Amino acid sequence: MGGPLVTVRGVEKTFQLPGAWPWSPSRAVPAVLGVNLEVAPGEIVALVGQSGSGKTTLARMVLGLEEPTAGSIALEGQAWSGVPEKDRQARRVKYQYVPQDPMSALNPQQTPLEAVSETLRALGGLPAAEARAGAREVLVKLGLEARLNALPRDLSGGEQRRVTLARVLALEPRLIVADEPTSGLEPDRRQAVLRDLFGNLPEASGCILVTHDMSAARAWAHRALVMLAGRVIEEIDLRAYEPVHPYARLLFDPWSRPAPGGELAETGCPFLPDCPLADGPLAERCAAAVPPLSRLNDRHAVACYGAEAPTVRDA
Ligand code: SF4
Repeated sequence: MGGPLVTVRGVEKTFQLPGAWPWSPSRAVPAVLGVNLEVAPGEIVALVGQSGSGKTTLARMVLGLEEPTAGSIALEGQAWSGVPEKDRQARRVKYQYVPQDPMSALNPQQTPLEAVSETLRALGGLPAAEARAGAREVLVKLGLEARLNALPRDLSGGEQRRVTLARVLALEPRLIVADEPTSGLEPDRRQAVLRDLFGNLPEASGCILVTHDMSAARAWAHRALVMLAGRVIEEIDLRAYEPVHPYARLLFDPWSRPAPGGELAETGCPFLPDCPLADGPLAERCAAAVPPLSRLNDRHAVACYGAEAPTVRDA
């Protein structure tokens, strides 16, 4: 498999937000706290958690769209965080981003054929005729043969997303970061878009899938990192194990309402106010310090003082 595509070590991100009034001091808001992450070639890693858990900020830092406040990020073994943008440019084409809102990435005046051709010319360095042929090939592969010359406003939501996927996949990147690539789509369309993405991912490439959709994480990801309040609270191979952290268990339970993690503790374990396990002496321990991420085995780690032994998934 070779070395990791992505190596994230102890990464943190704190945003400085303006105070409530013009004369108030700015506030430091931590978004990501002490995260480690690796993505191997051919691996799909899901980042899951509620809005505000830090998953999108972490994913954006991996691509250099945000700079970490602390820690380091390397891509394919070479430093990436802290490297001046002009020195990243030559490598950027190998690391691609699929945005949540496809229209933010599409020029309203450009047809899918023009958009993908331009990407292959400008970023892939292909001559115009080759770029056009390559664009047609990938668009046809993604089922857009009849929409090559339509304008984005005339495409359905699923088709717009497939155009953004075509632009990224045409470049055969080593790493794709897909940020909620199916948000707003009907369930059957979501499946089709994910099939288009993962079914056409080059074999040696990796993907970070940022998602609220736990069924997508279960279906496609080799590993999931569950985030809460900026930290990874469970890292799990969902094909082999069931989550054991109480927050992750609720998150992956399709019947749990309301979504877990509404009220968070400011000290100790953030899930303490909602935790069904924390009681008596255990609750005191949970309130005293943030639980560290402890490894249960090579495919499962959890940050919880009360978590039980992992449950192996039924075949
Ligand atoms: S550390 Fe304590 S409060 Fe946090 S999830 Fe585990 S048992 Fe609950």
